[in-house]
Amino acid sequence: MLNDSTTTSPSFPFENSYARLPERFFERLPPTPVAEPGLIRLNNALADHLGLDSESLTAPTGIEVLAGNRLPAGAEPLAMAYAGFQFGNWVPQLGDGRAILLGEVIDRDGVRRDIQLKGAGPTPFSRRGDGRAALGPVLREFVLGEAMAALGVATTRSLAAVTTGERVVRETHLPGAVLTRVAQSHIRVGTFQFFAARQDLDAIQLLADHVIARHYPEAAESADPHLALLQAVTNRQAELIASWQLIGFIHGVMNTDNTSVAGETIDYGPCAFMDHYHPETVYSSIDQRGRYAYCNQPHIAQWNLAGFAESLLPLMGEDQDAAVARATEVIQSFSERFNAAQNSGWRRKLGLARTQPKDTELVEDLLARMADNHADFTSTFRSLCDVESTSSERDESIRRLFDDPAAIDEWMARWRQRLQFETRSDEDRGQAMRAVNPAFIPRNHLVEEVISAAVDQGDFSPFHRLVDVTASPYGDPSGHEQFTVPPRPDQVVHQTFCGT
Ligand code: AMP
Ligand code: MG
Repeated sequence: MLNDSTTTSPSFPFENSYARLPERFFERLPPTPVAEPGLIRLNNALADHLGLDSESLTAPTGIEVLAGNRLPAGAEPLAMAYAGFQFGNWVPQLGDGRAILLGEVIDRDGVRRDIQLKGAGPTPFSRRGDGRAALGPVLREFVLGEAMAALGVATTRSLAAVTTGERVVRETHLPGAVLTRVAQSHIRVGTFQFFAARQDLDAIQLLADHVIARHYPEAAESADPHLALLQAVTNRQAELIASWQLIGFIHGVMNTDNTSVAGETIDYGPCAFMDHYHPETVYSSIDQRGRYAYCNQPHIAQWNLAGFAESLLPLMGEDQDAAVARATEVIQSFSERFNAAQNSGWRRKLGLARTQPKDTELVEDLLARMADNHADFTSTFRSLCDVESTSSERDESIRRLFDDPAAIDEWMARWRQRLQFETRSDEDRGQAMRAVNPAFIPRNHLVEEVISAAVDQGDFSPFHRLVDVTASPYGDPSGHEQFTVPPRPDQVVHQTFCGT
């Protein structure tokens, strides 16, 4: 490990705050160097936004930093402690078993961002794991995370991916990789639960203060800052899950340790976008009971927030019965906030600028027909952008997505009737709809193709193409139609694997 502060090493304008918290919040240790760092991709735009110099990051010393072989000046590497409920089961100690936080920088918008290496070697939290990441999951996280950001969803970001020149042992031997992950913070509901389980009130207080100062400064002004914190985190989770539902994203492992208090999508494991719509869709091979199915995501988020509330209760005053009542009210407010966000999102997706009493039924009717007819989620909504409000002449593009094309006709007529309450021209409506109904999502079969090309052939060009195309998800698909097409039956991905 080279600890370098010379001019050749890329400079990170670190301004670390988590490392100032008490030592029991983390374990200090550097990343473990890898055999042979090789750059796969640097996210130049993100580097620039973080005030980092792309050129020095892609130079050999920069790549060493991204692989964990060299520590940039000012880094205070550490593995964070946290706990969590995994599939509903309490695990008192998880923590960063393969991730090292290098430090924090302030981005060009003035927002503090963690810079973390994922797959950076074993830590005291590794349990039986090797502390490493396989190439496939690193590419998946890079593609999915950046696509989510481009789709306008709150998410952690991917600054870089590097190969390690080492193999990791999973079901087979696989090439290893390291992802540089950027987050508003890596503090999870499970971080609070770690200290709550230890009845470490001082730690909960310090952590809550840290989170308020960092993510929710307005909560500090409230009469009860911790209740205000709970409300703010609840609001962001409600908005986040609504944004997932509206693009058909299934996280797959919504454990409390994968629930960011900053409200970002975090820990892309066996996640996937739905192809054909069905509310009970599950991809993750480890989710055998469908706990984290598409339709359960809002309930699970609310359940996770209840766990967050429980951790905060000791800070909410002597009268715990009153505190429970207030916290319960906040948790219950999730539903209203979520429904409002989701309903206004559905209306935008259908091109409805105004609100009518039966809009929700119109959405539900469409979704039911899609489910019965295996209609592709993304393509159905995108096709709807292009049909006319006064004629069914151009309905074929949407009809052919349904097993029985006639199954959508009646709905189209209802929708056209509803459009009579709107005032926009078809052109304006279409344009507004195209801004919320993506043409490009990282479809599962494309992600699988990207991974197998890289892992089996060392060919990263499909990866780069998919990252490039999904960077403009709402754009004109001309020339890239192959990325918009739903999978053929033989291409459908039925299951995703954690593959950690
Ligand atoms: P995840 O499934 O990635 O959310 O991780 C759940 C827990 O397992 C976290 O505490 C991780 O740090 C840990 N973990 C996952 N993969 C590994 C690995 N290869 N080595 C060590 N710890 C791991
Ligand atoms: Mg996790």
